[in-house]
Amino acid sequence: MDIQISKFKEIEEGYSTRHAIEEAKRCLNCKNPQCVKGCPIENNIPQFIHALSKGNMGDALEQINLKSNLPAICGRVCPHEKQCEGHCVLNKKGQPIRIGKLERFVADFDSSIGLIHENIKPKNRGKVAVIGSGPAGLTVAGDLAREGFNVVIYEKESELGGVLLFGIPEYRLPKDVVRREIEKIETLGVTFITNCMIGQDITIDEMFDRGFDAVFIGSGTAIPKTLDIPGNKIKGVIQSSYFLRMVSLFNNHSLGLDEIPIKAGDVVGVIGGGNVAMDAARTALRIGAKSVTVYYHRTQEEMPALRTEYEEAEAEGVSFVWKSSVQEFLSNGERLTSARVKIGENETIVPLDKMLLAVGSRPANRIVSTTEGIEVDEMGYVKTRDLPYGMTTRRGIFAGGDVVHTPQTVVLAMREAKAVAKGIAQYVDAKKLLGE
Ligand code: SF4
Repeated sequence: MDIQISKFKEIEEGYSTRHAIEEAKRCLNCKNPQCVKGCPIENNIPQFIHALSKGNMGDALEQINLKSNLPAICGRVCPHEKQCEGHCVLNKKGQPIRIGKLERFVADFDSSIGLIHENIKPKNRGKVAVIGSGPAGLTVAGDLAREGFNVVIYEKESELGGVLLFGIPEYRLPKDVVRREIEKIETLGVTFITNCMIGQDITIDEMFDRGFDAVFIGSGTAIPKTLDIPGNKIKGVIQSSYFLRMVSLFNNHSLGLDEIPIKAGDVVGVIGGGNVAMDAARTALRIGAKSVTVYYHRTQEEMPALRTEYEEAEAEGVSFVWKSSVQEFLSNGERLTSARVKIGENETIVPLDKMLLAVGSRPANRIVSTTEGIEVDEMGYVKTRDLPYGMTTRRGIFAGGDVVHTPQTVVLAMREAKAVAKGIAQYVDAKKLLGE
C-alpha cells in the first residue's frame, strides 16, 4: 500500500465478537434509559445492546434499523461522548457503555454476513425525488422507502455519499463503510441517479412534470466562506473543503499526490475551530506537512470541535494558538510566505507555506434560482415551516440538513431529515386523498 495512503487507515479499531458481547453484558438495561435521552434520533439503545449481550445479532440489528439508516457511520462519527455515552448512567463512574462502538460492531457484522433481508413494502404511496446523497438525503430516502414510497436520489457527483465521502477523512470514516451503508439503502428499493446537476441537467419543475409528488432538497452547503482580509487571494491560501476533497480523491486512487495542494515539508496554518478545521489539520500532517498550527479566535473551551477530535489532533502533533486572529496574508509576489497574526494584544508575523481556511460554508443558490417560489434568508439558507414539517415556501418542495441552517453533525442532520420524511409522507398521503 502507498505509504501516504496507509497513513489514512482507520484509527479506532472495532470490537471482536467476544469483546462486543462482554461490553454489552455490562449494560444495566435501565428502565428509564438516560442514554436514549442523549441520542438525537432516540435509538433503541438498551434493546439492541440486550440482544447483542445474548449473542442475537439479528435482533440487535433490527432494533437499530428501527431508528437509523446509517448505523456503521453513526457508530464512527457521532459525538458519543456528548450524546448517548455522556448520558449513560455508568458515565458517573467514568465507565459508560461504549454504545457507539457496539453500534458500529453490529452494523459491520451485518455488512460482512448480511444479517437481515427486510420485507420491502410495495412502493404504492407516491413518488419522491431526493436531491443530494449526504446524511440528510440518505435518511429521507431510507425512511420513505421503508414506508412504501418510490424514491429516486439525484446526486451531482459521480459517486454517492456527499460530505460522508468527500468531507470526512478516511481515518475517521473509511469510504468502504459509506459505500456499504448506501448499498443497504439501495436494497430498500431506492433508485440512484448520479452525475445529475439540479438546475442544470434537470429542474425541479421538470421533476414534477415527470410525476414526482414531492421533492426533498438535501444538497448541503457547497460554497465555503472566505476571510475578508488583505491577501486572501494569494496562492497558498486554500479552502479546507477543497483540500479534504482532493485528499479524498487521492485516497480513492483518482488523483496523484502531486495534485494535492499541500506538499511534504510544508509549514501549514489552519484558521477555524470546528471539526472541519481538525480534519484539515490532521489530514495535512498525514500528507507530510512539517508543522501544522491551528489559529482560533476564542479559547480552547469555546472551540466547537469535538473534544476527542481536538485531543487526537493535539496528540498527533497539531499546535494551537488560542485567541488569535489572522489580519493579513503576505506573499513574495508569487505565493504565500507568511501571515500577520494578532494574538491577544500583540501582533506577530508567522512564516507559512500554506494556510487552510475552515471558517464555515453556505448553500449554493443554483437550485433556488432555477425554481420559482422557494424563499431563502439573507444568508442563502432555505426557509422551511413546521406543518408539514420541512416544507419550503413552495408547496410539495421540502428541505432539510445544512441547506436550511448552519452545518451541524451527521446525526443532527439525520434527526431533522427523519422529521422531514414524516412531513413528506403526510403531505403526499393528503395529496393522494384529495385526488391531486
Ligand atoms: Fe445501558 Fe447505560 Fe443505557 Fe443504562 S444508560 S441502558 S447502562 S447504555
